[in-house]
Amino acid sequence: MAILVTGGIGYIGSHTVVELLQTGHEVVIADNLSNSCVKVLDRIKQLTGKDARFYEADIRDRAAMDKIFKENEIESCIHFAGLKAVGESVAKPLEYYDNNVSGTVNLLEVMRDNNVKNIIFSSSATVYGDPETIPITESCPKGVCTNPYGWTKSMLEQILMDLQKSDPEWNVVLLRYFNPIGAHKSGIMGENPNGIPNNLMPYITQVAVGRREELGVFGDDYNTHDGTGVRDYIHVVDLADGHVKALERLKPGTGLSIYNLGTGIGYSVLDVVKNFEKASGVRIPYSIKPRRPGDIDASYADASKAKRELGWEAKNGILEMCQDSWNWQKNNPNGYED
Ligand code: NAD
Ligand code: UDP
Repeated sequence: MAILVTGGIGYIGSHTVVELLQTGHEVVIADNLSNSCVKVLDRIKQLTGKDARFYEADIRDRAAMDKIFKENEIESCIHFAGLKAVGESVAKPLEYYDNNVSGTVNLLEVMRDNNVKNIIFSSSATVYGDPETIPITESCPKGVCTNPYGWTKSMLEQILMDLQKSDPEWNVVLLRYFNPIGAHKSGIMGENPNGIPNNLMPYITQVAVGRREELGVFGDDYNTHDGTGVRDYIHVVDLADGHVKALERLKPGTGLSIYNLGTGIGYSVLDVVKNFEKASGVRIPYSIKPRRPGDIDASYADASKAKRELGWEAKNGILEMCQDSWNWQKNNPNGYED
């Protein structure tokens, strides 16, 4: 029996595939390569000595997805495939709703038709909007998202909850990620954004490696200890491990489960810059820029439910995250293009 990993060539998916193969799971990947590079497959093989079966397929393509289920004995799906650029989602909402929402509905229909009713879904702390209280627990009400990307996550959570309610044979795990950074310790797998990075850590690493001049810090007047935005950064390999642990929740009769995956510690933008400088020995020039629309003061997790129920907790601290991001970027200044 195999685990279908949609989006398994991407940043979080590829690290999860490595952890799955290393813990003895059989893996089938479906990815349309819209935001990833097929060379990742060689790196997965290099790290694990094993092959994942790869299909270049779009989750919106019913025939292609059905073929995957017919050709493999899939027991569960870990569903990463989706578009994730916040700014792009504001400019192209229909593309985001089509890819993420229609694509997932299509995937769920194919799963149902093939009687595979176990799914782990990549959700995000963005579904909390501007949270009422921090640290954020899973019982914190979902909030108003500030962009179409966030709404796709919020809507898909609702769709999955409605589906599970309608048919209790479904086992659904919603994993709400905080801010994944870091890379595989080997330095041969990591984040590889297209174009100008939207997120903090890849921007910092590209400044460090000389691809960008300076970091723009988006706002220094937030209600935080130094005025810059506070987030809960989590090492991508810890996040990957969270998925392996969450597979336990796909046992018959488990139903719906929701977990925050974070470290529970918030760091400001300037804290991250300082830790990165310490980890890499490279100075990161920055200047203060206006706030980025939609950003909030602070977001960090109460991740105690995942610890209690999954036996999972993040192991890597901020310095290790910075070291591993740097190790990846320094060895691969142009990502997988080298
Ligand atoms: P990523 O872009 O690196 O990986 C996503 C993968 O999905 C890519 O390989 C892409 O080619 C593939 N894909 C996109 N649309 C597809 C489609 N229609 N059919 C098949 N494949 C498709 O992103 P990531 O950072 O690894 O994120 C994985 C998931 O986690 C996404 O759903 C994302 O929204 C979610 N998430 C990410 C973050 C983050 O900060 N990285 C935070 C919270 C949630
Ligand atoms: N940020 C920044 N400069 C950048 C990118 C991000 O100052 O070039 C800040 C952003 O305002 C937020 C934090 O870094 O406070 C994390 O942003 P990111 O986009 O990585 O993740 P988000 O929490 O928005 O999903």
